[in-house]
Amino acid sequence: MNIIGNKDHGKSLRKTKPVIMAGVLAFGLMAQPAQAALTFSFNYLNPGEGFDEPAVGLDRKAALNEAAGMLGAYFSNYTANLTYDVTSYSINKDTLASAGSGQFSVPGSFQETVVQTKILTNGATDGNGADADGIVNWNFFYNWGLTDNVAANAYDFKKVAIHELLHSFGFAGNINDGGVDNEGIAPGNQGSWATFDNFLTDASGNRLIDTNGVFDSTKVAVLTGGSGSVLFNGANAVAANGGAGVNIFAPTTWTVGSSASHLDDDTAALAELLMASTVSTGLKTREISAIELGILKDIGYTQVAAPAAVPVPSAVWLMLSGLMGVFGVNRQRKPA
Ligand SMILES: [Zn+2]
Repeated sequence: MNIIGNKDHGKSLRKTKPVIMAGVLAFGLMAQPAQAALTFSFNYLNPGEGFDEPAVGLDRKAALNEAAGMLGAYFSNYTANLTYDVTSYSINKDTLASAGSGQFSVPGSFQETVVQTKILTNGATDGNGADADGIVNWNFFYNWGLTDNVAANAYDFKKVAIHELLHSFGFAGNINDGGVDNEGIAPGNQGSWATFDNFLTDASGNRLIDTNGVFDSTKVAVLTGGSGSVLFNGANAVAANGGAGVNIFAPTTWTVGSSASHLDDDTAALAELLMASTVSTGLKTREISAIELGILKDIGYTQVAAPAAVPVPSAVWLMLSGLMGVFGVNRQRKPA
């Protein structure tokens, strides 16, 4: 077995439109977050720039740590220290950030990421030893809102950070354009897949990849079949979605880093959730929805749970409703 490169697991988040749920988050954050049993250690690899930039580096690091804490609160029944190598760049390339975690390549199987295994074994199994468990790569070309007051023209750093870290937790697949795996194994042969891929089906509920790890050659077309052509059909996700499989992003043009690894942006009920493939500017939800929690349970996190809810005063809702008019303009979405 060998560990394949992190880069193949890097998924990117793009830009979306604003959402009322943002209000819940802005005020929920005033409460003490639950004590997370997961801890995160970030190794910043670009001295003097990005997360280490003299003027704003500390604020960027603080935002990443806060986002990690918010994510960790959902996994407070697990105990593990997760290490990440963090890099950054500043390029106008329509990607906000990416992240991932390595994985063993075992043809004919569905593999956890290194991060995923470490969490699920409560730190007992570190698949790649002393190496970082995951990677995060951030694009600081764009305007980022680092706090809970995200400007209308800025991207919500914490939302995107939680999204990216969840990819490293295993909320991502290994399917590439044409149904090949990360090492180029073609449909009809045994590939090496992610646990996420084990639950993907077509619209009729038929598996894309059989239990022997063979991508069904007759299912290649559904990968670019549009909304509803690829579903996540794990029992927990289905239960959280009213008994139906969850639409996975499958635009008619294969989108590297986004297709088959996100909720479907083109399904209205999913477009503003944390794990849709794109995000627009302004404050966004940082909450993991019931559907996303279902997916996480299906891929192995049976103990994942939302932290205690924080009540939102009705006056706050009224104020935010008023603000919606201001934020409610259409903006370009960016991948993440
Ligand atoms: Zn993503």
